[in-house]
Amino acid sequence: HTKLELSNIDLEEQVRTRTLTLEDEVKERKKAENDLQISNERLFHLMKTACDSFWEMDMDGRIKPSPTGFEEPINASPFTNGKTFPEMASSRELSENPTKWKQYNTNLAEHKIINNFSFWMVNDQGEDICSHVNGIPLFDKEANFIGYRGAATDITGQKNSEIVLKKAKDKAEKSSNAKSEFLSRMSHELRTPMNAILGFSQLMKNDKSGTLTEKHHKFVNNIMSSGKHLLELINQVLDLAKIESGTLELSIEEVDISHAFEECWDLMSPMAEKHQVTLEFIQPKEKLFIHCDYTRFKQVLLNLCSNGIKFNNPQGLVNIQAKRLDANLIRITIKDNGIGIPKKQQSEIFIPFKRLGIERENISGTGIGMSITKNLVEGMAGNISFISTLGSGSEFYVDLPASQKRPVSDKVKAPTVSERSEKKPPISRRRLILYVEDNPFNMALMEDIIDSAGNLKLLMAISAETGIEIAKKQTPDLILMDINLPDLNGYEALKILRGDPKTKKIPVIAISANATRRDINKGLAAGFDSYLTKPFDINQLIREIRYAVGPDVGLTKKAKNHSPQ
Ligand code: ADP
Repeated sequence: HTKLELSNIDLEEQVRTRTLTLEDEVKERKKAENDLQISNERLFHLMKTACDSFWEMDMDGRIKPSPTGFEEPINASPFTNGKTFPEMASSRELSENPTKWKQYNTNLAEHKIINNFSFWMVNDQGEDICSHVNGIPLFDKEANFIGYRGAATDITGQKNSEIVLKKAKDKAEKSSNAKSEFLSRMSHELRTPMNAILGFSQLMKNDKSGTLTEKHHKFVNNIMSSGKHLLELINQVLDLAKIESGTLELSIEEVDISHAFEECWDLMSPMAEKHQVTLEFIQPKEKLFIHCDYTRFKQVLLNLCSNGIKFNNPQGLVNIQAKRLDANLIRITIKDNGIGIPKKQQSEIFIPFKRLGIERENISGTGIGMSITKNLVEGMAGNISFISTLGSGSEFYVDLPASQKRPVSDKVKAPTVSERSEKKPPISRRRLILYVEDNPFNMALMEDIIDSAGNLKLLMAISAETGIEIAKKQTPDLILMDINLPDLNGYEALKILRGDPKTKKIPVIAISANATRRDINKGLAAGFDSYLTKPFDINQLIREIRYAVGPDVGLTKKAKNHSPQ
């Protein structure tokens, strides 16, 4: 009995222990299940937020039914079961991007990762959508390729806004090009009559016959200064338009500041003399080189300098100097002791057409120069600033990047017209000049100029074809060629002349109202011996003629203006 009682106690003990173990096991299992659920949920949430949908492919690249194994359904895939990506892609997508799809097929055949691949397709609802997919190749335990698994994101919205943006950009570019085209046409149209206006008034001004009264001389001077003002306005508006449309081309090179100073001094000293202002260009003690567009840098200097002279008093001073601020920066200071700028108007100085009330003072100007200057300086990676005190004067600072290299202009210096003109031996026979031009006023102007130059005979043609005919028959010593002609243009005519043994050696100078630097470069590259822009300076024209046909051709007097107008 006692034995039986003992074994009962054992049994109870065993049952109790067993129950405890089972409870633990259940607890553990529950915990494991809980953990798994949390981990699944976490994975599920990550998958749901990381992309729009998931997909799996078989080894032929065909989409398999949506991946299973999740309690909640994952986002619906846009792909059609049993189809490959190329089969789903829109026909335009395939025809426009053959290389992209060829690469896709090669990558698949080589079991490579599908990396950031996007394509347009039509989904089951017939909508055009753009899918962005990433995927990895799958292999079984024996390393056999079994397909792909990956994720997809719908980027239709993003792509559509890119398309809208591109369309808007293209439209803006088109209209900006149209604006530039319009302005350069306008400038061309304005320059042609300006050539006659300025040319005839120059001739009248230089007339030695004494038939003009004092009053007439005054009128001629007024015509000339208004003409020049209009020309300046045309040039500046064109520059501003180019800057605004972003089509202004800068050719950045290494520039020796002392060269620019010398040239600007030559150009500005007549103006300074006229205003009785002392102009000082202080050459730097050490050689200073800057990184900029030479012509545009000169334009900046000339504008600041002429403002310093204009907005000054007789016996005033304009001082220009340059110094190194640090290893990378050179500062050019243009200082005047002129009228100064009122404090409250100083913030408006760079706004186009703002003349800060100076228009009332009868000082010539357009009010665009400072805004162009600022844009040019900034376009050359520089900065412009100033201080000014009303009644005492202004100081402008132009900071430009320093350059350590030797300037290109030092290495290859183009000969100037006067240097070149020494080379031709004198000939005493009367030279024949052919002028091809369709504008009657400009023809009349040239007639007068050639008449007054002496030792020259002028032939004229109103079209390129007639010009070429005359050239072949009479072999002139020089041809002056307009570019925009009614039949062939000047370039086509030049090509024909150069292709004919009878005319190929005749020098041809272009005279055109297409007056941008690009036009000039294009003309010279096409083979014109020289390129003059309308309105041309009569003295410059005669210098060019002298160089082309020999120096014994009349030259009224040495011209001060070296710049293309
Ligand atoms: P403008 O054709 O009148 O010279 P700018 O654009 O060059 O036009 O200059 C704008 C205005 O800034 C001028 O009209 C003038 O009022 C003022 N300004 C520019 N430079 C000076 C200066 N050195 N001294 C006084 N005023 C100046």
